[in-house]
Amino acid sequence: MKYDISLSEVKGVGSGVLEKLARLGIHSVSDLLEYFPRRYEDYSQIVAIDDIKPGMVTIQAKIMQVKGRYVRRGMHITEAVASDDTGSVRLIWFNQPYRANALKNDVEYYISGDFGLRRQYLTIQNPSTELVSEFPLSTARIVPIYRETKGLKSQQLRKILRSCITEVRVLAETLPDWLVTEQHLMSRANAVETIHFPHSSEKLEKAKERLGFEEVFQLTLAALLNKYELLQEVSVEVAFDEKLAKDFVKHLPFTLTDAQKRAIWQIYLDMQKSQPMNRLLEGDVGSGKTVVAAMAAVMAIKAGFQVAFMAPTEILAKQHAKTIHRLFEPLGLSEVVGLLVGGQKPTQKRLTHEAIASGRTKLIIGTHALIQEKVDMHRLGLVVVDEQHRFGVEQRKALQSKAGHMPHVLNMTATPIPRSLALTLYGEMDISIIDTKPEGRKPIITSIQSPNSRKQLYEKIDTELDEGRQMFVVTPLIRESDSLPAKSAEEVYTGLRQGFFKNKKIGLLHGKMKPADKDRVMQMFAKRQLDILVSTTVIEVGVDIPNATIMLIENAERFGLAQIHQLRGRVGRSEHQGYCYLMMGDSSEPSRRLRALEQTDNGFKLAEMDLEIRGPGAIYGTIQHGQLDLRIAKLTDTKLISQARQAAQEFIDRGENLLEYSQLHERVQSIRAVTNLN
Ligand code: ADP
Ligand code: MG
Repeated sequence: MKYDISLSEVKGVGSGVLEKLARLGIHSVSDLLEYFPRRYEDYSQIVAIDDIKPGMVTIQAKIMQVKGRYVRRGMHITEAVASDDTGSVRLIWFNQPYRANALKNDVEYYISGDFGLRRQYLTIQNPSTELVSEFPLSTARIVPIYRETKGLKSQQLRKILRSCITEVRVLAETLPDWLVTEQHLMSRANAVETIHFPHSSEKLEKAKERLGFEEVFQLTLAALLNKYELLQEVSVEVAFDEKLAKDFVKHLPFTLTDAQKRAIWQIYLDMQKSQPMNRLLEGDVGSGKTVVAAMAAVMAIKAGFQVAFMAPTEILAKQHAKTIHRLFEPLGLSEVVGLLVGGQKPTQKRLTHEAIASGRTKLIIGTHALIQEKVDMHRLGLVVVDEQHRFGVEQRKALQSKAGHMPHVLNMTATPIPRSLALTLYGEMDISIIDTKPEGRKPIITSIQSPNSRKQLYEKIDTELDEGRQMFVVTPLIRESDSLPAKSAEEVYTGLRQGFFKNKKIGLLHGKMKPADKDRVMQMFAKRQLDILVSTTVIEVGVDIPNATIMLIENAERFGLAQIHQLRGRVGRSEHQGYCYLMMGDSSEPSRRLRALEQTDNGFKLAEMDLEIRGPGAIYGTIQHGQLDLRIAKLTDTKLISQARQAAQEFIDRGENLLEYSQLHERVQSIRAVTNLN
């Protein structure tokens, strides 16, 4: 939609304001209109002064006896008396010297503000006042509060928006008419006007519903279109070999959980089709996703194809290589596993390349850089992507151009998202969820610790270590920093070595170390040559050391909920009891979110609790989708989400042409272009 005017032509927008608006990300009239309020204050009830009660109030009154004075240097107060037919009340403003001259005698004002006791007098403090004869913006209505910037307050934003009201009223409808009718939605113009200038809370709800519906509709439509486009592509058919699957399972040192079996079955069905698989395997940390991926890989290899397995870090790539090597060994397939990571020596790399070219190596494990490597992947049948949110359309196309067909893709994530939400966020993928952990796992005991109890905690830990267990200590920083009062890995490492744990073997690991050094420390820890590993979050994802049972997180208040959950997933991977200690930086009260970690170690439950505590946007926050953020729709509003999803499907089923809806088209295309959807 093109507007008749540019932002600088809007009444009240001079060059200074223009600059401030830009700071808020507002560069055009349409940005401005879509700058939705963060919250509202309800001043819509006008009360008689006689009936006034403490709290936010609105009165309709005349203002008299206006007096301004400095009470001391830098402190100005304006006082006045407001009266209606029922009585009078004091008004007071702090440091608003212009008030005295601005107020007129003998005219009626709406006066909205906080009524309460102040220095023994009941007063309304810093009220907004507006002439009854004018359209009220900050009084006598439900007042929107916007995200503000220095020198640009909500009140001014309201004024600027009000001067665009003509533009708002002619806003074109963005959704198809049949959809607006069918879903009983407010028109776009009406919804945008109402979100900024609501007449009632009922209408405001309808406006939010309309705009929220639209957001989810766009998101799902984009995902569905990506999905259908992918289904047009051709992939390779991977025949299902029952004997091989049975053989593989027979040699496992454990029995697969039902959830694992279900997932692998879904994957086998997908891979038999000539359309490319695009499946998300979602399972809490420690739920056993790797073995599922290995089973998918073995089938593709047996059918004569190559498999690329991508891990987010080199440490993980190496670990996966080891694990899969072990899983393949009983089948006589360990030969086919190859590792390709940046830290390798050129000669070693060359050997691996040769093994791949000769066809001996069929499963290539590496980091994300694998795609850029000049590896001969013309037989690529399957790509497994572990814990990687940045693998999207572009990466996929890169692989397609190498192979000449679209490989099957299996994405794995430990970010637990309830199914209904996963379907919205990842609508272009099919989803398998591993919702149970292998049998016999004890829940990890999580407890928040204050620094006062550090010594007792260390004594308890010492006993565990003496019994042969190992501990991770995670810190927010690598090195001490003047600007951040938080623990660093180096400081904690030295502290523990010279202090309480001086008779224990301690290692240090952080992201600034050379790959070879990291490797050596990791290997030492894995071989139990170290009792304690002090590290930054480089160990966050996937590291599997079953003998480590204690996770101590320093400055726990500095970590995100999902991150701590990932970290504690490093322990409790064996028959031994796992512990996660959340050490606070000081003895202040821990947040509700940290408390939630104490209450459950189930990632899916945690995600739901997080959603409730943080409200909308929570899950996006953890995945950091940025421009896909929902601004209005609440992710907890499952009814709205499911309706919007159905509508997106209906849009496609009706054979609608997106090009006929220019704004919808533009928005959907920009969402589709965000490649980090899967
Ligand atoms: P994640 O889903 O976090 O990637 P992993 O695949 O690393 O989990 O598995 C965690 C641990 O659980 C590994 O040591 C693995 O061998 C083990 N494991 C996987 N499946 C089972 C099972 N069905 N029964 C017992 N242990 C299992
Ligand atoms: Mg894993």
